[in-house]
Amino acid sequence: MSEPDDVRARIRTFFDGVPALLDGIDGGAGGAAGGDDEDGPGVMRRAKAWRAALYDAGLAGFGYPVEFGGLGDRPAEHAIWVEESHGRVPAIDSLFGIGIGMALPVIRDHGTPGLQRRFLAPGLRGDEVWCQLYSEPNAGSDLASLATRAVRDGDEWVVTGQKVWTSGAHRADLAILLARTDPDVPKHRGITMLVLPMHQPGVTVRPLRQMTGVAEFNEVFIDEARIPVEWVVGGLNDGWRMATALLAHERVATGTSSVAGSRDDQRKTGRNPLPAKQLIELARRSGRADDPVVRQQLALAWSGERIMGWLGRRHAHPSIGKLWRTRQGRLAADIAAGLQFPAGVAWEADDVTADYWQYHVLNCRGMSLGGGTDEIQRNTLGERALGLPKEPTSDPEVAYRDLLRNV
Ligand SMILES: Cc1cc2nc3c(=O)[nH]c(=O)nc-3n(C[C@H](O)[C@H](O)[C@H](O)COP(=O)(O)OP(=O)(O)OC[C@H]3O[C@@H](n4cnc5c(N)ncnc54)[C@H](O)[C@@H]3O)c2cc1C
Repeated sequence: MSEPDDVRARIRTFFDGVPALLDGIDGGAGGAAGGDDEDGPGVMRRAKAWRAALYDAGLAGFGYPVEFGGLGDRPAEHAIWVEESHGRVPAIDSLFGIGIGMALPVIRDHGTPGLQRRFLAPGLRGDEVWCQLYSEPNAGSDLASLATRAVRDGDEWVVTGQKVWTSGAHRADLAILLARTDPDVPKHRGITMLVLPMHQPGVTVRPLRQMTGVAEFNEVFIDEARIPVEWVVGGLNDGWRMATALLAHERVATGTSSVAGSRDDQRKTGRNPLPAKQLIELARRSGRADDPVVRQQLALAWSGERIMGWLGRRHAHPSIGKLWRTRQGRLAADIAAGLQFPAGVAWEADDVTADYWQYHVLNCRGMSLGGGTDEIQRNTLGERALGLPKEPTSDPEVAYRDLLRNV
């Protein structure tokens, strides 16, 4: 790419072609009214076609080295991308969120050249889908207590344990995994980050159906699964540093993403707040667009969405963006529920249009948990941004093996 104005024009031309691109893919008749399952092959085909087109248009890898499929460091052009793509990225892009928003940036920044060559280009192009194997039944907010272990066996790591709440594991090819590699040191110091191939006999994925009715996340049972010895991200036992680096990317990604609000986005998936554009359409359809109270609410939703975008551009602390987005998700869902009132309190499960709003009313609560709860974000801001005293911990120097814990 050359002049910034060219970039702006190219981005606009690209987005103008996206609806036709998606409508041309099998499964295009889906939309809110479905016909295709939320995770059906049509959805994945559309998502992969969108991502490949973005990559082929040279717009998928801002900040990634050219030799690994990226565009190099082009801050001015990246800023134009952020501006022009606001509200135009289809929601199906969120199927790649864990790879593109979280795992790949860590591999780019801390992976060996071999890992970068192997994973960056296929990930940016959407050929490989990622999930994040962090949380366990006894290690959520206290992630460093994780028990899944990786033991070296010749040229491989052998991994055994259980993970839970794993978004998208049922469609993932690869996982960014945290495992304990040294139980004889304090809990934060004996963890390693690895890349786990999901399609192998030692990995069992069981869907968990949420209150939304959608099984978006899973339990993952790992029984002597194998990983090539060199698929370590960062160093051996340096996993806590890698884990926090990834979480910072996660909070930025979940704090700033914004979707188009088109027909293609009327899907029950992802962790995006309802777009203000869709709320405005809903108000019009419900004949409430002239009601001054509704107008006030829509203005709040619209400005909240803009603030989300600006927080991303200002590079505010990632926890601020994450907290703001969670708030926006609740606000937008409350407005949708109000606009649907009184039908909003008695949605029928087989009314697919209402079902979409209902999904968001229920789904927005999970935004306060995924990627670290609101309380943990506030602890982080207190300790790291405001310099308040750290939370007391009872046993910072005790080896993981000797900690008292639920087994
Ligand atoms: C939609 C969704 C998607 C998710 N996707 C993934 C995924 O892909 N991969 C993955 O690994 N995990 C995922 N998670 C799991 C998520 O990271 C955890 O749910 C989260 O970290 C909280 O852990 P927990 O559920 O064990 O709750 P707990 O840690 O048991 O927390 C329970 C309550 O106690 C509060 N609390 C805990 N510790 C403190 C503290 N020190 N100070 C103040 N309050 C505290 C919490 O805020 C919360 O309200 C997902 C969760 C959701 C809801």
